[in-house]
Amino acid sequence: MSSHQEYSFFGAVEKSFDKAAKFTKWDLGILEQIKQCNAVYRMHFPVKVGDKVEVIKAYRVQHSHHKTPCKGGIRFAPTVNLDEVMALAALMTYKCAIVNVPFGGAKGGITIDPRKYSAYDLEKITRRYTAELIKKNFIGPGIDVPAPDYGTGEREMAWILDTYSSMRPGEIDAQGCVTGKPVTQGGVRGRREATGLGVFYGLREVCNMKEVMDRLKMITGVEGKRVIVQGLGNVGYHTAKFFQEAGAKIIALAEFEGAICSDDGLDVEAVFEHRKASGSILNFKGSTNLKNNMDALELECDILIPAALENVINAENAPRVKAKIIGEAANGPLTPEADEEFIKRGILVVPDMYLNAGGVTVSYFEWLKNLSHVRYGRMEKRFTESLNTQILEQIEGLTGKRVNTEDREQIMHGADEVDLVRSGLEETMIAATREIMDAWHSNPDIPDMRTAAYVVAINKVGTSYAELGIFP
Ligand code: GLU
Repeated sequence: MSSHQEYSFFGAVEKSFDKAAKFTKWDLGILEQIKQCNAVYRMHFPVKVGDKVEVIKAYRVQHSHHKTPCKGGIRFAPTVNLDEVMALAALMTYKCAIVNVPFGGAKGGITIDPRKYSAYDLEKITRRYTAELIKKNFIGPGIDVPAPDYGTGEREMAWILDTYSSMRPGEIDAQGCVTGKPVTQGGVRGRREATGLGVFYGLREVCNMKEVMDRLKMITGVEGKRVIVQGLGNVGYHTAKFFQEAGAKIIALAEFEGAICSDDGLDVEAVFEHRKASGSILNFKGSTNLKNNMDALELECDILIPAALENVINAENAPRVKAKIIGEAANGPLTPEADEEFIKRGILVVPDMYLNAGGVTVSYFEWLKNLSHVRYGRMEKRFTESLNTQILEQIEGLTGKRVNTEDREQIMHGADEVDLVRSGLEETMIAATREIMDAWHSNPDIPDMRTAAYVVAINKVGTSYAELGIFP
C-alpha cells in the first residue's frame, strides 16, 4: 500500500522511545539496553516450489528477555525486511509491558507474497521456517512463542505446532510453543477476534472519557460516531464489526484495490461477503467507489482506524487527514512526521502498541490454557450455574415474584471460555487506557498519548530489569 524503502521503521520506534525516555528516571545504560534488539536471527533456506528451488529469506528477532518467553507474530509479506521485524519486535516488548502480559517482545517474518504460493508450498515454507527456529533454539513454550500477524493465521500456527511437536516428542507443554492456533489444536475461543475487540474496547474507553471528549469537542460514547477503517483483514474486519454493533456508522472501508464510502453507513458483513464473492471491495450496492484506496484516509470522520500496514499516514498525506481521533489498529501506521502534525492540530492519536494489544493479551490466555491443559470454565461453569439457581430460587421464594425466562438464563449462566476470555480482555484494555491517560495527565510536559504509553512501558521494563538485579 505504500513505499517502505526510504524510511526506517525501527528508527521511528527509537525516536518515539527517546522522546519518552526523557520523562523517566532510568540511567542511560538501562535505557539503551531496553531499546536494543537482544537477538537477531536472519536465515536463508531452500524450498522446492514446482520444479525449481527457491531460496527463502526469513527472520526472527527477540527484542527483549526481561521476561520470558519472548512473544510476537510472524508476518508473511513481500515487504518484510530486517528493519521492519526489529521495529515490530520492539513494539511487542512495549505492548506486553503496557497490558501486563509477562513476555519479552519478538517478531518473525518471511519475505514472500503468500498469495503467490499454493497452500502446499506455504506449508513447506512454514514447516521449514519452524525447523530453522528449532535448530537455533528460537522457539518453545518457555523460549519464544510465535503467533499470527499480517499474512498468517490459524492454519500456519497449526503447521508450526505440528512441526514443533513432531520434533520434540513427549514435551508435555508443546502446545504452548505457538498461539493463535485453531481451537481444535489447543487454541482458545475468542483469539480470532481479539485484536479487533481490543481496539474497540480501547477506543470505547477513550470515547467514554468526558474530559478527553470535551477537549476534542465531541460527545461522549461510541454511538453515532462516524468511523473509517483501512484494511479488512482479521483486525480491520472485526474492529469495524464491533463498532457497527455498538451503534457507530462505518462511513468508509478501504482495501488494496480501492475504497468505498457511504454517508448512511456500510454494513461490514455485507461488504465482506461482497468482496469475497466479487474479488473486490468496489461496486458495493449503495456505496460510492474511491479509485485510490488512500483517499479514504482523507475523508471527514470522527475516528480513523488504519488497520493494515505501517507508514500509511506520513508527512505527505497527514495534512489532509480530517479525523478527530486516529486509532492505530495496525503497527506503526503513522510516521513520526505525521505524529507531529497531529499533535500540532490537536488530533488525538491512540497509539498502536497499546491499542492493538488485544491479540497478544488473548495469546497470553491461550498460552496459560496450554500450560494448564484445561479449558477455561471447565471446572466452574456448572458449579456457578447451580449456585446461581439456588440464590435465584431463594430470592423468588422470599419476594414471591418469578424472574422471566430471559433474565433467568442470564443470571444463571456460568461463564464459558469465550465469556472469560472477553471479560479478561475488556478488563485489560480498560485498565491500560486509564493507566496511560493518568500518566499523560499527571505530567503536563508529556505532549501526546503515544509518549505517555512509552513512558508507562519503559518504566515497567526498567523496573523489571532492576528487579532482575542486572542493573543494581
Ligand atoms: N501479531 C500480533 C501483534 O502484533 C499478535 C502477537 C501475539 O499474539 O503474540 O500484536
